[in-house]
Order: sequence, then structure tokens, then C-alpha cells
Amino acid sequence: MTVKIAVLPGDGIGPEIVREALKVLKVLNSEYGLDAEWDIATIGGAGYDASGDPYPEATRILSREADAVLLGAVGGPQWASLDRPFRPESGLLGIRADLGLFANYRPVKVHRQLPDASTLKPEVIDGVDMMVVRELVGGVYFGQPRGIIEEHGERKGVNTMSYTEGEVQRIARIAFEAARLRGGKVCNVDKANVLDVSEFWREIVCHVHDDFSDIELSHMYVDNAAMQLIRNPKQFDVILTSNLFGDILSDEASMLTGSIGMLPSASIGQAHAMYEPIHGSAPDIAGRNRANPLAMILSVSMMLKYTLNRSDLASAVDAAVEAALDDGVRTFDLAGGSRTVSCSEMGDVVCGKLARMMA
Ligand code: NAD
Repeated sequence: MTVKIAVLPGDGIGPEIVREALKVLKVLNSEYGLDAEWDIATIGGAGYDASGDPYPEATRILSREADAVLLGAVGGPQWASLDRPFRPESGLLGIRADLGLFANYRPVKVHRQLPDASTLKPEVIDGVDMMVVRELVGGVYFGQPRGIIEEHGERKGVNTMSYTEGEVQRIARIAFEAARLRGGKVCNVDKANVLDVSEFWREIVCHVHDDFSDIELSHMYVDNAAMQLIRNPKQFDVILTSNLFGDILSDEASMLTGSIGMLPSASIGQAHAMYEPIHGSAPDIAGRNRANPLAMILSVSMMLKYTLNRSDLASAVDAAVEAALDDGVRTFDLAGGSRTVSCSEMGDVVCGKLARMMA
């Protein structure tokens, strides 16, 4: 059966890393019998430039009709002074909300070939393998009221962190189910000692846990979690957390792996799914063929596994990435290795490994 993918390169390094992901899909089509086809559309700053909308209607229709969405990254300084609804990031929040992508899976795995790439000691990070399950369409990024208002003769910035019972229940279920397929442990991260919304969140998580008595549940305040991630990251299996805390903690966790350019993600809803690296558009290196495309390529692997039910092909892509790292091939963001390559060269190496594994 033909699978239809909506490809949204976005801004900055987005088009560069997406190009490498499409090379991988082409190899899977030609050598592994995958029957994938894709259409490319704009989002973010590119969407705004093309149509005045960071989440253009044509992109919305394409994404809703596709089996899965592959997204590069959005954002850049040239759009930063636009009114907020027109900024690239509004396009990203827009597609997540429109497709109902409430569950964001962010695996954090330290590759054995990269012990020197992290700024942390090898014995601290060796063997780290955790999954951050982040709520993606609620919390302070979406809560109302929001905005910059005038009050008592003074300007005030407002955002609202809110969660409904249903929103917490469904993401908690996802985390417990993920733990069942992994190490059987969930650490709920919140700020229940200070925030009412967190106290409520924790109460609901505990209720949902009644249906998952086989899973070990612990709780941690987010400030402590930020510290524990650096002190002893191996204690974590699944981290369950809200939109804002998950955004921050997963960027922090990326440095366990050596580079944010290594971390893929899957965003899943009832009817749609989107796959993207956790990093942004990296304007500082955009257009220079210096980006690490592996997070994007590993996002393809997650798409194969989670949406296309092709764990066999996902394993092949993962193995090709491992083989490239085994050979000492590294992009500029990764320390060590024996050969530093550009974004497109890294894509070529991975594709070569993938093709040869089938030959
Ligand atoms: P960023 O993730 O784009 O970059 C942070 C640092 O990591 C930079 O030094 C960058 O060069 C480096 N980096 C990121 N990805 C890399 C890769 N694949 N290979 C090598 N190095 C990489 O975060 P930022 O600088 O805070 O944000 C830049 C823009 O991206 C902003 O407009 C922001 O809003 C946007 N953003 C978008 C997303 C998304 O599209 N999902 C996520 C985060 C930030």
C-alpha cells in the first residue's frame, strides 16, 4: 500500500536535514520495497513568506490527508519582529494543535560510539536510555488568557498554565503504556509544591496509575529533575511531564547524547502523527551544510515504527546510523571520530550503509 507523507522542510537548517531524510526514504523505496510518496509544503517562516501564514491552508490540507508528517524545523531572526500569530513558531504550535498531536515522545539514548561527544563524564552517561513523554497541545503554551495587556497604567505579560482532567489522563496513559514496553518505570515531573495546576496534574496521574499497578511510579519536582538529569541520568526510564517542562528538560537531556542534532521525536494524536527533530532551525549554521541530519533521519525511523508499522525498516535505518558512527564519521557538532563530514555527506554515508545492508 502506498503511504503518503507530507514533508514540511520549514526554515534554517530544516531544508538541509529534510533533504537527507528524503534520500533515506528513496533508498527504502528502491532497495527495501517501501512504497512511500511525498509532497512538499511550506510552514513557519517559509509559509509566511509564501502566503502570509506560517501554517498555510494548503499545508493544513496536505498534512491532514497524509499518513504522516515529516517536519524539519521552523524559526529565524528575520521573522522575530512579526506579530506573534504570523511568527514561524505559531505555525508549529498551529499544526500540533490542528492535528491534535498531544503526545510527544522524545527518546534520549546515548550512542556507545559517542562517549566523548558529551560534556559529561563517560561513566555518568554510558548506557543512558530514557524516553521523555511530553504533553504537547496544552499547558502554558496554549492556555488562556495570554498576551501583553495594560493594567493600572502599567503593561503586563500574561500566559496561563492550565490542564483539564482529560488532557492529563490521556498523556499519563501514554507514559504508562510506553513504560510497559520499556523498563516499567515512570517518573512524573511537575512543580506540585508551588503550582496548583501541577498539584492537580499529579492527582490525576496517580488516579491513572491505578490502572497500571505493574508500573513503578515516582514523582519529582522539575527543578530537582533538571539536576538529577545531570547527576544520575541512568535512574530514568520514562519521564512524564507537561509541555513547558518537557521542552526544557529534553533539550537538557540532549546534551547527555553529545548534541541536540542527535535527538528525534514523534508527536502522536488520535488520527495524525508528525515526526521532527527536537532541535530548532539553527540559524547560526543554516545554509552552510554543517547541520547534523541524524536527528531528522532518526525521526524517519520513528515514523516507520510508530505510524507505518515497519519496525524492520526502522531497525535498518537505526543500524545504518550506528554503522556510520562506528566508522568514526561525525558532523561538526560531534566531538571525536576520525572523519568530520558535512550534512549531505553524513546523509550519503547513512544511505550507503543502508543500501549495502540490503545488498
Ligand atoms: P536551535 O535548536 O535551533 O539551536 C541551538 C544550538 O544547537 C545552535 O547552536 C545550533 O547551531 C545547534 N544545533 C541545533 N540543531 C543542530 C543540528 N542538527 N546540527 C548541529 N547543530 C545543531 O535553538 P535556538 O537557537 O534556540 O532557536 C533557533 C530558532 O529555532 C528559533 O527561531 C526558535 O524559535 C526555533 N525553534 C524551533 C523548533 C522547532 O522547529 N521544533 C524548536 C526549537 C526552536
